[in-house]
Parts: sequence; C-alpha cells; structure tokens
Amino acid sequence: MKHALPPIFAFTLSALVLVAAFIFAEPISEAVTATESAATDDAPLVAVPAPDSSDAKLRVNVLVKGETLNMTLADYLRGVTASEVPGTFYPEAIKAQAVAARTNLYWKLAHTNPGHPSADVCDDPAHCAAYATDSDLQEKWGGKYAELMPNIVSAVNATDGIVIRYNGDIIQAVFHSSGGGYTEDSGNVWTEQLPYLVTRESPEGPASVPNFISEYAFTINEFKRLATEKYPGISFDKGLLTNEERNAQSGRLLYVNLGDKRVSGTQLRLIYGLRSAMVNWTIDGNEIRLTTKGYGHGVGLSQYGANEFARNGASYEDILTYYYKGSVASSYSS
Ligand SMILES: [Zn+2]
Repeated sequence: MKHALPPIFAFTLSALVLVAAFIFAEPISEAVTATESAATDDAPLVAVPAPDSSDAKLRVNVLVKGETLNMTLADYLRGVTASEVPGTFYPEAIKAQAVAARTNLYWKLAHTNPGHPSADVCDDPAHCAAYATDSDLQEKWGGKYAELMPNIVSAVNATDGIVIRYNGDIIQAVFHSSGGGYTEDSGNVWTEQLPYLVTRESPEGPASVPNFISEYAFTINEFKRLATEKYPGISFDKGLLTNEERNAQSGRLLYVNLGDKRVSGTQLRLIYGLRSAMVNWTIDGNEIRLTTKGYGHGVGLSQYGANEFARNGASYEDILTYYYKGSVASSYSS
C-alpha cells in the first residue's frame, strides 16, 4: 500500500461527545513544565505569566503517559499548544489554538470524564489533546527550541483567560489539522450536531499544507481483505464502493456501500488508514486508488486554515468566531 508521509505534528480531536476518533499520538515523557525548564536563574528564556494571571492561578490534573500530574493551566496550555501547532505558525493562529485548548479544558472541568476520572484532561490526541512536556519539546525541536518556544508562550500569555462561548456557554472547541478546503458538520462525523460546528469554507490548500492531497493504492484483493477483517462475510457481488452520499457543500464522504455494508466516511477512513474522509477513488483493472484531501476529522477549527487566515491578517478572534460559527471569544472570568 502506498500512502502519504507522516504528519509533521500530531493532529488532535477532543473526545467530548464524540464516538469516533483517530490516533496519531506522539510519545510523552516525564513532566517538566515549560516554565521550569525554559527559565534560567538570571535570564528567563521565555516570558512567564504574571502571578495573578488567570491561567497561572488555576491548577489542573493532566494524565501524562498514565501518570496524573498537577500543573497550572498556563503550563498545560504551553505543552498542548506546542504539540498541536508548529511554533513557526503565524502568531494569531497559535493564539487561536491556545484559546481552543483553554476552552476545551474549561469544558472538561465542568464535565466528568469516565475515561480518566482522576484527571481533567489526558495527553491522548484521540481522547483529549496532544500534550508534550518541555523536555520532549526541547528534544523534538533541538536547536529550534529557543526560537520557537517563545512563540508558543507569547500566544498563551497574550490570550490569558480567554475562552470561547456560544449563547453564553463554553463550547466544545474541537479542531483538526486541515479540513481539505471545508470543515464538516459535527453531526456528520459524530452523534451530535452542535450549532457552532457547521461546514465552513477553509482557505488552506496544497501550497500551504504538507501532504494536502494523499494517494493510496490497493490491489482489489487487498482492498477486500481489509474490509473482510472488519466485516467477516462481507460480499462484494454488487461492487466495491457504491451509492456514496456526500456533504453537498464540502464534498466529504458521509456514507457509502462498502460491498454490501453501509459504512460512514469515518469508518472507511479507519479501515483503510486514510488521512481524511474527503476522499474520492478510481478503479483501474486490479487496482483501486483513493485520494484524500486534508487531514483529520474536519470538524471545528482547521489548524492550517487558521494559519492561512492569520497570514492574511485575521486576528485570533476572527479565526475562532469563523470556525466556531456564532461564538464569542471573551475572558472566562467576565
Ligand atoms: Zn482524555
């Protein structure tokens, strides 16, 4: 099977009401906060938040590699933001990511999570969001750490305490790497349609997203074998992929007959390891080729789309209220 190169960073999705998820996790090591590690005795490498900042006052429990660590929200947000978007992104895009992560954390604080009752959030991007410790980031970024980490810290500090609300309620600020040109209605991917998670055009494309378009080739036998692993007894008498149903606006595959099984685009994505359900295919002789656009579930904020908006001068508030339609960014305490 041919497939695209690995992503340059893990994309995320928050579990929340969600029933389907894809895992592209990165390893996490022992807990060292960004603040502790980045600062030196006489010359802090990065600015630390003021002691009375909203993010520094709240302590949260984060499940990191199976161990629950207690840290400030400010430290959590550095590790999650740095794991979710490159430090090379435009500042307003990094801020948008920081606010989305903060919003999700506050949402989680208000909701019991049976997946990890002793922790508010975990480091699994398929369940909560990716999180890297400062030592991991130093190892991953190497000589670039001193250049990139201040960009992350600045974004967290500049948005201290800011969250996103819809009709006054903290939202589920889900995000993904690239929507492939359009984001998706939450109800088309998961069980619940939320009013602020609706299809939006997204400005990223092949010039701005690594592996925006990915191709996968399977022999017909291999394609059938993978389906049979999931659905023993499946029949292909009436074709491989038929009767597709798509989001008319986004083009994302919603449902299709895989042999005699009706499956969702999400299920097809899981069976064949596709980067997204924005997928088309051609069958040529003994081969089926699938082509995807974007990366991730496609709901909520598109990280690369946010970067394109920021490149063109949008503020983080502009970006967030666009991807979370009808929402408002404001201080948690206000
Ligand atoms: Zn979790």
